Amino acid sequence: MPAVYNWQLGRAMSYPHAERHPQWQFAFVFNPNRCIGCQTCTMACKSTWTFSKGQELMWWNNVETKPYGGYPQHWDAKLLGMLEEANPGGQVWNASAPEPASKPYGVFEGMTIFEAAEKVPGPDGPRRALGYLPEDDEWRSPNIHEDTATGGRQNEAERYGDSVQLPEHKVWFFHLARICNHCTYPGCLASCPRNAIYKRPEDGIVLIDQSRCRGYRYCVEGCPYKKTMYRPTTRTSEKCIACYPRIEGRDPALSPEGEPCETRCMAACVGKIRLQGLIKLEENGAWAVDPKNPLYFLIRERQVALPLYPQFGTEPNGFYIPPRWVPRDYLTQMFGPGVEHAIEQYSCPDRELMAVLQLFRASRQILFRYEIEHGDKVAEVEVTLPTGETRVQEIFNDTVLGFNKFDKEVVRITVEEPTFERPREAHLNSI
Ligand code: SF4
Ligand code: SF4
Repeated sequence: MPAVYNWQLGRAMSYPHAERHPQWQFAFVFNPNRCIGCQTCTMACKSTWTFSKGQELMWWNNVETKPYGGYPQHWDAKLLGMLEEANPGGQVWNASAPEPASKPYGVFEGMTIFEAAEKVPGPDGPRRALGYLPEDDEWRSPNIHEDTATGGRQNEAERYGDSVQLPEHKVWFFHLARICNHCTYPGCLASCPRNAIYKRPEDGIVLIDQSRCRGYRYCVEGCPYKKTMYRPTTRTSEKCIACYPRIEGRDPALSPEGEPCETRCMAACVGKIRLQGLIKLEENGAWAVDPKNPLYFLIRERQVALPLYPQFGTEPNGFYIPPRWVPRDYLTQMFGPGVEHAIEQYSCPDRELMAVLQLFRASRQILFRYEIEHGDKVAEVEVTLPTGETRVQEIFNDTVLGFNKFDKEVVRITVEEPTFERPREAHLNSI
């Protein structure tokens, strides 16, 4: 297999296709610290793309309750188990010498799904990516075990008594919102023997060509995130298309001047947990240095948002701010060795990070650049860091400005939410 460079693993890895990169890459940051599990995003997607016959069980966007929930059920635990079996005790990171541009989380020394596949041939010969095909009933709910928590101790009084102390809760769950990660090295694309799956050169969106697909479901098996789904009425597989007409700015009502807009699931999020954008790539696939792009700032500058299961090796382009109350070993398995740093950043954001965090769901248009106008200091708060150390956080009422693709200002928002007092006579309570 050819060797490709995966910056999330900090090393080259084998992949069935030669390295080739788009000009821009569709990417997003989700913040599970704020997600309320309302599934508005899920329904926004469902009512747009998967409401037809044969798509009943499809949820291109779903929000699952961790640790027990999953769509399909146990998708991540199952694959982690298969990788462990292929490489017992070897799925480890060496985070001793990170380097911001080429190996920000250190080096993953274990096996990716592509490397493990070479070792574990399937019944019909070697596969290109290690995976499995879920049974039909495993797809039965987008959020099975909804809001079911887990506790670390058996004594009832201890389990629930003092469970709400940061940095970690003894009883915990969190909502994990998921869509296709439009991966740099997609497992679905690698697994398709018909070459029906492709990555668009203009924005890195991964699509299935319906005229080439024959419904073999190798992509369902090979996507580690289980985000391609089989449709029995057409006998083809389908997946999230990243609402590409919106990304292209082709909706005349939303984008009169061709401005790229965020996807339906992003734009509908009531918890303001989502920020989506496009990342400029160098020819070799490295992220072009662009610290005033909100996503670049959050992911590469501050490393407050981390990839989901980077060890699978697909270089997913979905990133998460780890939830602060969850045990660190669980989070490290899910997001890699950057968890402590990310949580420390998020627990006590400095002035710039605090301003950029306001941009989540501030505009329907995709933001390519931000600026900050300084305001007055409005508060000092004592914050307990994950280490137990306390720090005084200064809060400034700065204004953050967001600019669209054409460098036009489309949002201006302050750190402190403005309040307005309505004149009493004009709004008397009718009862
Ligand atoms: S998340 Fe799955 S379906 Fe989406 S691009 Fe990656 S491998 Fe393919
Ligand atoms: S709409 Fe937002 S807050 Fe609600 S479940 Fe989806 S991601 Fe979470």
